[in-house]
Amino acid sequence: MKNVAILGSTGSIGVNTLKVIGSLADRFKVKALSSHSNIDLLAEQIRRFRPQYVNIVDPNRLKALKKRVDTRGVRFFTGPEGSEVLARQKEVDIVVIAIAGSCAIYPLLAAIDNRKHICLANKESVVIAGKIIMDRVRAKSAKLIPVDSEHSAIFQCLNSSDTAVPYRIYITGSGGSLHNVAKNRLSKVSIGQALKHPKWKMGKKITVDSATLMNKGLEMIEAQHLFGMPIDRIRLLIHPQAIVHSMVEFRDGAIIAQLGIPDMRLPIQYALTYPERVSSQLPRMDFSKIDRLDFASPDIEKYPCLALSMVAARLEGTYPAVLNASDEEAVKAFLAGRVGLVDIAKVIEKVLKKHRSISDPDLDDILQADMWAREETRRLC
Ligand code: NDP
Ligand code: MG
Repeated sequence: MKNVAILGSTGSIGVNTLKVIGSLADRFKVKALSSHSNIDLLAEQIRRFRPQYVNIVDPNRLKALKKRVDTRGVRFFTGPEGSEVLARQKEVDIVVIAIAGSCAIYPLLAAIDNRKHICLANKESVVIAGKIIMDRVRAKSAKLIPVDSEHSAIFQCLNSSDTAVPYRIYITGSGGSLHNVAKNRLSKVSIGQALKHPKWKMGKKITVDSATLMNKGLEMIEAQHLFGMPIDRIRLLIHPQAIVHSMVEFRDGAIIAQLGIPDMRLPIQYALTYPERVSSQLPRMDFSKIDRLDFASPDIEKYPCLALSMVAARLEGTYPAVLNASDEEAVKAFLAGRVGLVDIAKVIEKVLKKHRSISDPDLDDILQADMWAREETRRLC
């Protein structure tokens, strides 16, 4: 029996993780839950899973949360540090990082320092501080298992051989909600339209990132760090069916792909049970229902966020942190109706151009660049 802490339990990944754990109740026990502010759902999760540790990041909601549940046997924490406290608990074996945004860096580092088995869904932390994270993972011999479906796929492809050296990585993407919208119509896109993803049901921020393909840009930087692959050997393919989740090409030209239905419970379960594979009750692929699998290069002109990501990835330093922070703020402004969808890339480009990067930054440099980029972006929006 493994004890699990889920940080970001009320989000899309958090909820799916609890579904997987519910189906594997003989293997996993929910030991700790953390969310930001959704006390209704958190209270429901506490009633069902009876965790020993609970954190609610927003301190103003703690009192109301306690009123909704039987508090006996539960230790409550609050504030952003609470997530770190949960990640450090001795009884916790597995930490699922399902928090959205770059603030996940702190509990992630706490989990690494405490040598936990980490199921990492959060990508922003890897984008801003990939080198620091991977150096720390190696120094502490922590287990970092990707949950992001493409990175889970790459991880699974790489596991097919202990010795083969990967030559190239193909990241696939369905194309997001605006795949069939012409470039000259993008300025008219509404919030509702951008949030209608054809294949995946996810949190709002990542769904908007999928519409601009910023999500793919962030994922390429994520793969650069997780798999130590130069950015120019990571290719993006638009694959609308979302069946091939990513591929690895080896030195000899052979390509290994991971396929499956588009359902986050698959990579979540694999990350939880790794290195084992256990059976699941999820629907199976039915190839008789698939006519074709399409792959195409992305339209760089239609999706300027992609080019911006590649520039930030190549320049390194604090540029990736600025790219990510500016995107987080610009997407917030879009969701609040303050800017249009096409403004997201325009604002990020301006902020990147104005930034004076620091090479080989430490965590303080990165967090300062992150804060600076947020302020600049808010001002421009
Ligand atoms: P959601 O927005 O659905 O959920 C985010 C979770 O994080 C919620 O539990 C939220 O709490 C909590 N949270 C928000 N802000 C903070 C904060 N400042 N401190 C601590 N907790 C916070 O996001 P997703 O589940 O969609 O995504 C989570 C991460 O996983 C992202 O990094 C995303 O890129 C990545 N990912 C997601 C995929 C998906 O299918 N959804 C696929 C691949 C990667 P509350 O609800 O109480 O506000
Ligand atoms: Mg993904």
